[in-house]
Amino acid sequence: MRVVACPQCGTQLPWEGSPHRPFCSERCRLVDLGAWLDEKYTIPAPLDDESADEGEAAAPPARSGRNGRSDG
Ligand SMILES: [Zn+2]
Repeated sequence: MRVVACPQCGTQLPWEGSPHRPFCSERCRLVDLGAWLDEKYTIPAPLDDESADEGEAAAPPARSGRNGRSDG
């Protein structure tokens, strides 16, 4: 039987037949869901310092050396 650990509280529970897997209970699932939802809706603080990363031009194509010089 496969056993997994609840990511919320760490309780081990059988994978098969668990209605709230990978959580051990609906409560744990809601807690976890609420946790990441809370994080998702948190607006990150605006950065004052704008770092302009301009000037990253693509490197020019490598020029292949000329081969087959004829003796002049
Ligand atoms: Zn749990």
